[in-house]
Amino acid sequence: MKKVKYFYNTQTLKYEKLVVSLRVKLLRILGFVSAAIVTGFIFLSVSYRVLDSPKEKRLRREIEVMNERYEAMEDRMNEVRTQLSELEHRDNEIYRVIFEASPIPDSTRAGSREKEEELSQLQSFSSSEIIASTGALLQELLHRISIQAKSYEKIDDLVKNKQKMLASIPAIQPVANKDLKRIASGFGYRIDPIYKTVKYHSGLDFAAPSGTPIYATGDGVVEDASASDVGYGNHVLVNHGYGYKTLYGHMLRMKVKSGMTVKRGDVLGWVGSTGKSTGPHCHYEVVKNGEKVDPVYFFFNDLSPEEFDRMLKIARSGNQSFD
Ligand SMILES: [Zn+2]
Repeated sequence: MKKVKYFYNTQTLKYEKLVVSLRVKLLRILGFVSAAIVTGFIFLSVSYRVLDSPKEKRLRREIEVMNERYEAMEDRMNEVRTQLSELEHRDNEIYRVIFEASPIPDSTRAGSREKEEELSQLQSFSSSEIIASTGALLQELLHRISIQAKSYEKIDDLVKNKQKMLASIPAIQPVANKDLKRIASGFGYRIDPIYKTVKYHSGLDFAAPSGTPIYATGDGVVEDASASDVGYGNHVLVNHGYGYKTLYGHMLRMKVKSGMTVKRGDVLGWVGSTGKSTGPHCHYEVVKNGEKVDPVYFFFNDLSPEEFDRMLKIARSGNQSFD
């Protein structure tokens, strides 16, 4: 039932019906509706803040899981970074030093250092920033790992080259000499066996019975194998590369010919007394970059440190050479 409102008209002195215009009615409706909307909005936003919808709960749980995973990944990346730093250190300070390669400059390895520092600040970043920075850090780690891998490849090459070099450099005695009794004369000024005057003896003499095998002291190529009645007599010259050559003189017979490749320990010929010689022996020379050097320093594969000491003393004693 519709309510009718009256008001007291002071001019007519009567109660009269109150007529509300349509405009005022509309304004009132509008006021009510907007108040309802605002109230509803406030109510909704408060409830959203305080109460989680099921979807929100699920998302929140996902974020927690992702955070845990991210932390685990960050720990793992820190581990990898520590291991990589240790490898880089060993590479620069040890491996590359041993094999005489210059260390990889930090500038080549870096580009990554600033990124590392960024990692520690990531906690305060938003998810998207964290993902971007983590991706960048991962790139940097991969970059450093690839540089390290290349360095190891190079060292591997160097080791292989050194192995070849170590196999080539003269490192054993040219005749079997277990008790070191075969050293007859050392390198340097010795009494000439024929003229009996002091002369420079440019090699080491190993006295041994005729026919004792003479061995190549390192890998190489036979540069000369000549028969002769004077000087070195029947002698063999081996070129080892790396600036090294060895000469074996006064052979009874030679087993090799010029151009042949020989390995350390291969028989080159047999002890004799051909050329300028006073008895069966092997005159052994080591030539380094064109200069004749004391062979006593080139037996490191053959002698223990104690044996080397004894060998030095024997070779130093003022013997007469066999030439
Ligand atoms: Zn000699």
